[in-house]
Amino acid sequence: MSCRSPLTVKLITWSLPVSIRGRVGPEYTQVRVQESAGVQIEFYGAAGEVTGSCHILTVRGKRILLDCGMIQGGRDATERNRREFPFVPADIDAVVLSHAHIVHSGRLPLLVKRGFRGPIYTNAACGDLLPILWRDTADLGLREVERINRRREPDDPVATPLYELDDVERALKLVRALRYDTKYEPLTGVSLILRDAGHILGSSSVLLECSDEGVQRTIVFSGDLGQYDSPILLDPYPFEQADLVIMESTYGDRLHRDREATLAEFGEIIAAADASRGNLIIPAFAIGRSQEVLYLLGLHYDAWQLCDWQVFLDSPMAIEASEVYWKHVDRYDPEALRLRADFTSMPQLPNLSLCRTADESRAINRVRDHAIIIAGSGMCNGGRVLHHLKHNLPRAECHVVITGFQAPGTLGRALVDRLPAVRIHGELVHVSATVHTLGGLSAHGDQEDLLRWYGNFTTRPPVCLVHGELPQAQALRARLEARGGRAWIPEPGFVLDLATLTEKGVRSS
Ligand code: ZN
Repeated sequence: MSCRSPLTVKLITWSLPVSIRGRVGPEYTQVRVQESAGVQIEFYGAAGEVTGSCHILTVRGKRILLDCGMIQGGRDATERNRREFPFVPADIDAVVLSHAHIVHSGRLPLLVKRGFRGPIYTNAACGDLLPILWRDTADLGLREVERINRRREPDDPVATPLYELDDVERALKLVRALRYDTKYEPLTGVSLILRDAGHILGSSSVLLECSDEGVQRTIVFSGDLGQYDSPILLDPYPFEQADLVIMESTYGDRLHRDREATLAEFGEIIAAADASRGNLIIPAFAIGRSQEVLYLLGLHYDAWQLCDWQVFLDSPMAIEASEVYWKHVDRYDPEALRLRADFTSMPQLPNLSLCRTADESRAINRVRDHAIIIAGSGMCNGGRVLHHLKHNLPRAECHVVITGFQAPGTLGRALVDRLPAVRIHGELVHVSATVHTLGGLSAHGDQEDLLRWYGNFTTRPPVCLVHGELPQAQALRARLEARGGRAWIPEPGFVLDLATLTEKGVRSS
């Protein structure tokens, strides 16, 4: 049967995500700024784990926060997010934000709620995504506490959200949208340049140049690094010089399948779901994975016989984020630019439905076969994907495609680990559907990508490996050290003196 769409194939669309995870973290003593602090870097989040990115650079007594992300996954994530910051928010002079993902940006409204009043520097496209993510997070938090308070016993304390819309709006007023490849001086003695990290739209690696009483240091903070040759976005920027590199290590121990094999596998999964006459659920981050999946579905519309399917983008946040993706064509790779040039409007999948309302989302439950449902959250720890999973996991004819990293403790990780049953909305749900992991669609580079990125440095600068669980970070450290580099895996509270590149210890209570 022919699958020629009336528009002749192509498509382009895009969406949004969120991440999550968690482990037990230590308590900290808040330490006020010492004017004699020198030039140093402290690590307070994404240290030995993947969420809660948060580091502090101190220069001339001024403090710059690199990211302020939400902790996700694990039973104690909610409690950890509510703890006092291990520093005084009002003491932070500026924030530099690598990208919009909630595990990098999600606690900035909380930082503002607790007293931060400085500027938040980030790329302009990231600045366009932040209102979507933060308002959604505040809204979800509000609904969650309403649910908890409805069930509250008279003696229980009243639950309150982490932050509210007012905090979000105050935080948004502090955002300063920067261009890539342009030098800025946010504070005396500190300059910064944002470079495209190729991870999601608006993602940056950050070059920071610091000077203090004759000490000059260049630091490169990788942020999250995309895969090379991934759809839509450009490759990660190649830096050549640094005194210290702060580098992510999410997939520091493994290799993704290559693009061709990944696409072939995606096509085979769709064919298998077609043959079994089931649905295909794709949990996806609203920013990045959703757009990439839609892009690929459009690109392979004929080859994958997609005219037999209904495609649902069931996420208001992903729909909004897609509009932002569509706007920033200046960040596309040549293939996406060519496709973009052929179209005058956004989603070009003729059978794509954009589901904004809850009623539209629920209506999908009546579709028993040939529905491709793209919904958040990306790690299945909340959002509309939960009710789709509840309806489809018990059915052997259905399939689930995992496209991104799944933190320990999340429902997504339970599916990746092939648990025979999972709990959704308090109910035990048996997993009869087939779960596939398409690592090749990850927004993160694999070990070879990370080594390739590091290999651009003309020397072998020392590295602090962050944003990775310990096994992944340790594997990457071994590879880096084999190449002559020195690498630390900072634990929370680790302080490094940048003047001497020596450890100053671990700050703890
Ligand atoms: Zn990210």
